[in-house]
Amino acid sequence: MNIESSIKFHSLPVDAPLRITSPFGQRDTGIPGATTYHSGIDLGRDIYKPETRILAVAPGTVAESYWNDYRGWVSVIQHRDYRTLSQHMKYKGLSAGTKVETGQVIGIMGNSSDPDKLKVAVHLHFELQFGGVPIDPEPYLKNVQEEEYDLTETEVRAIVRDELERLEIFTNGGSRPSDWAAGFWKWGTENGITDGSNPRGLCTREQTVTMLKKLYDLIGSESAVE
Ligand SMILES: [Zn+2]
Repeated sequence: MNIESSIKFHSLPVDAPLRITSPFGQRDTGIPGATTYHSGIDLGRDIYKPETRILAVAPGTVAESYWNDYRGWVSVIQHRDYRTLSQHMKYKGLSAGTKVETGQVIGIMGNSSDPDKLKVAVHLHFELQFGGVPIDPEPYLKNVQEEEYDLTETEVRAIVRDELERLEIFTNGGSRPSDWAAGFWKWGTENGITDGSNPRGLCTREQTVTMLKKLYDLIGSESAVE
């Protein structure tokens, strides 16, 4: 299987600017003559926030959640063809079997470990494993790609049909669109989705914004607004 095409991150693993404090691979420990192999990379915390959150880089399922004296609280997430591992988390992570979405908070950055064995500063040790082998995550962290979402024709048709039914109710003496669509209208205007105009008058502006809101919810991403 081709590694390049199998691994895609849709989110950074931290809600902080990307700051790599220690790269992957051989590194100098500061002890003369000794080097160690770093099986992941270390990411720094956001210095402007009291806590830095650890995020899922893609959809997946929590495969392991455990304590290790050297690694502290560890969380391993199984993505489609690869795994990501976070260690030194402040608290125990989500239970094994929990499904996670892209960008979901899976833990808080910490410095957990048994201090008699290893003392570390607050940071995230992040690993990427493909076929059980750790590989360098840096290229993927620098190439985070927005998730693609393919709406099916059936999903779009269902939304439009729903709105046409509402129009039917309205024209047959039902409640005015502005009443039932108040929440949608508020969302649309607050997020700059609509300028309030109703070009061509084929559907009401409330219906238009309602359809957009439903599509937005279906996509489940803030990217539709940004
Ligand atoms: Zn590390």
